[in-house]
Amino acid sequence: MSKTNYVDTVLEIVKKRNGNEPEFLQAVQEVLGSLRPVIADHPEFEETNLLERLVEPERQIIFRVPWQDDHGKMRVNRGMRIEFNSALGPYKGGLRFHPSVYIGIIKFLGFEQIFKNSLTGLMMGGGKGGSDFNPKGKSDSEVMRFCQSFMTELARHIGADTDVPAGDIGVGGREIGFMFGQYKRLTRKFEGVLTGKGLSYGGSLVRTEATGYGTVYFCNEMLKEQGQSFDGKTVLVSGSGNVAIYAHQKATELGAKVVAMSDSGGFVYDANGINLDTIQQLKEVQRLRIHEYTKQHPSAKYTEGFTGIWSIPCDIALPCATENELDGEAAAALIKNKCIAVAEGANMPCTPDAVHNFIAAGVSFGPGKAANAGGVATSGLEMAQNSQRMSWTFEETDQKLHQIMVNAYNVSKQAADQYGTPGNLVNGANIAGFMKVANAMLAHGLV
Ligand code: NDP
Repeated sequence: MSKTNYVDTVLEIVKKRNGNEPEFLQAVQEVLGSLRPVIADHPEFEETNLLERLVEPERQIIFRVPWQDDHGKMRVNRGMRIEFNSALGPYKGGLRFHPSVYIGIIKFLGFEQIFKNSLTGLMMGGGKGGSDFNPKGKSDSEVMRFCQSFMTELARHIGADTDVPAGDIGVGGREIGFMFGQYKRLTRKFEGVLTGKGLSYGGSLVRTEATGYGTVYFCNEMLKEQGQSFDGKTVLVSGSGNVAIYAHQKATELGAKVVAMSDSGGFVYDANGINLDTIQQLKEVQRLRIHEYTKQHPSAKYTEGFTGIWSIPCDIALPCATENELDGEAAAALIKNKCIAVAEGANMPCTPDAVHNFIAAGVSFGPGKAANAGGVATSGLEMAQNSQRMSWTFEETDQKLHQIMVNAYNVSKQAADQYGTPGNLVNGANIAGFMKVANAMLAHGLV
């Protein structure tokens, strides 16, 4: 097999084996595409079939989650955990509860997580899990019964030194609390088996804010490269969940004005700047739809459909909602409006077309696996604090998060330079993340 064909050959294998999982194929294609010059430079990767091993999860666990609703009706959902790669440490990655969840989504997220965790510089392998359960419209009791049932099976597969899940879409502090309680009850262990815990029982300060803050820290490094900053800039933030809210907060703290936010129904535009207190009240406390915003801010405008947000003129775009929410057309609109930087707070929110358009137009582009690594990085810091039976102050933890994001930017930039695509942080993040994992896998022998 010639060196130049090795990547294509592996991609063919992945397509054959996972043909019905488009999100997973998309993620593998992007990463392996970036690795071509690295593979050419390092024949040992082909000689040891390293890529074939890398794209195959170490373990996939799929299980039944039976639970009872408030009317006494028995329900069932599908639960899963993909333990993708443990070369750098215990499997680490969130749990997603959303009706769209199926194995292909969890595999794409788990695969991305391997490189993201590597970029944090902490000792964490890659994993992901979740369920097609929809927490929306369920009572607290229903969510609790679901979480307890989910954990009844998951508990036998995870542990503080084995696999440490966290939250993701649909899994916040409430769900983590219910799952932690059930784990403790089943195993009689009070250990750092989940991250994103409440502060009173082992959570870390800054974890709630970490992904949004980290995305803004990363974007700030991209802006510095252009001699720019957030100060005085107009920003669009899609989504209005955990990542979006704290991206808004940090961008505003750095002097920017966030003029639009969205949910899966539509987006609100407020030329005066989106009032974050209102969004937090609506989303974190009342769990309402974003269109309610206009009731308190009549000058703001609500538009149905989530893609229109990208046609609003801005300097910086932070997609913080979900995968493939910003397509080639949306990217073209942002470019036309002279947007100078895009950083992905969500996982793979930009389609391949959109990414291509940004890079071709010279827009600074921060890929999710680097730009949103702050969440898992702070989860890693939570694990460190749990191991020490200590908790650090907000400032200390935030400083560590900031440093991790600056490092993630620097290693991505350096790798992009070294392998001939200066400024291309997609290639840089993929290569830098990969090299560490690949070298650890080589050191471990045939695993
Ligand atoms: P949340 O569940 O807190 O929020 C998700 C938000 O996105 C909600 O406002 C949701 O609206 C909105 N949304 C969903 N689909 C769309 C859509 N098509 N268009 C516009 N808005 C939409 O999740 P998180 O904030 O935690 O996660 C967001 C993204 O960030 C995900 O891709 C996740 O994987 C990624 N991420 C999260 C990390 C974390 O620490 N939380 C870490 C790293 C990455 P609605 O209420 O209508 O569904």
